[in-house]
Amino acid sequence: MFWQAKNILDGRGNNLGSGQVRLDREGHIIELVDRIDSKYNVYEFLSPAFINSHCHLELSHLKRAIPEGTGIPGFIQKVQRFRNTDRDMVKMAASAADYAMKAYGTIAVGDISNSPVTMEVKLKSSLRYHTFVESFGFDPKMASEIAKKNEQLVKAFREKGLSATGVPHAPYSVSSDLIKYLLKENFEPKCIHMQESLAEDDFIREGKGELTGALKTLGVDLQNHQGKQVSPLLYMLSQIRNDQKILFVHGTMTQTAEMDLIKSDFPNAAFCACPRANLYIEETLPDYPGFHKSGLKMLIGTDSLASNYDLDIWAEIETIQNHYPEIPFEEIIAWATGNAADFFGWDDLGKIEVGKKPGLLGWKEGGRPRRLV
Ligand SMILES: [Zn+2]
Repeated sequence: MFWQAKNILDGRGNNLGSGQVRLDREGHIIELVDRIDSKYNVYEFLSPAFINSHCHLELSHLKRAIPEGTGIPGFIQKVQRFRNTDRDMVKMAASAADYAMKAYGTIAVGDISNSPVTMEVKLKSSLRYHTFVESFGFDPKMASEIAKKNEQLVKAFREKGLSATGVPHAPYSVSSDLIKYLLKENFEPKCIHMQESLAEDDFIREGKGELTGALKTLGVDLQNHQGKQVSPLLYMLSQIRNDQKILFVHGTMTQTAEMDLIKSDFPNAAFCACPRANLYIEETLPDYPGFHKSGLKMLIGTDSLASNYDLDIWAEIETIQNHYPEIPFEEIIAWATGNAADFFGWDDLGKIEVGKKPGLLGWKEGGRPRRLV
């Protein structure tokens, strides 16, 4: 079995030019040939299947429930209101979202879970999942109890044979004690929402701003909260190991100097772009050309259906390309394929190379990627 295209994007940021990808019956790549046979169908592009590195499957029932442009403080208040929806409805929406992701050309997902509700969907799914079991908790007195609950949920996922690690939600929603507990656990990879809004910066740097009000209405006790005089990212970097494998999600407010610092001192850290969620909530985009220039490992996620129209990685890629045409297309494809495979340790996925089984996408000029294998 073989597929051929004018451009083979290898998932490492290279365009190998025209050729054929030959596969065995199970989908393993057995040979790459640098010529095409015009008797057969020729695609414009071939690439590995996509990896969605940041999703919240358990928020899939919130599709169109939250208006655009609320800003992060408004968004977290609204999401909180919908968290106690009927479990069967949540499961049904998660199952539909899982199926849709497959149809969009996704082969694997890094998914945030605050509860066990998506476990069954993940067990039945043909997609590969890594679950980031996420906790909130701003009260330092509660840190060890919350960490214990987190550990139990991680264990429950693992006992079902599902890959999972415990992670903190964001610098503004987790006490420094809880961060320590959640990052101390040996299993990796980790992730944390990072620098999604200016309000987050105000809250961590100065101890004030719009997030203060939002958190108070959620019953968070901010009595002992003080500004750290540094950005949320620097605050976080001071609490992690230099070799920590951690994914910073969003990076909307991340500055060039911070990118350079991570590149030089935190070799296993990566950033996840969720451009359409940033446009949906904050109506702004991170400095992707800056990230690209810094040489940092970039990944791509859709975030949840609470802050996006669908879970289509291709639409995220197009959004980045439309706003920043100076970033090479084959590089953006690597964000959604090889870079993610490296981060999650999925050695068989993400790259068009002999011996790998990455799933194959093909598309014609002006079309969208379809799963071929
Ligand atoms: Zn998220």
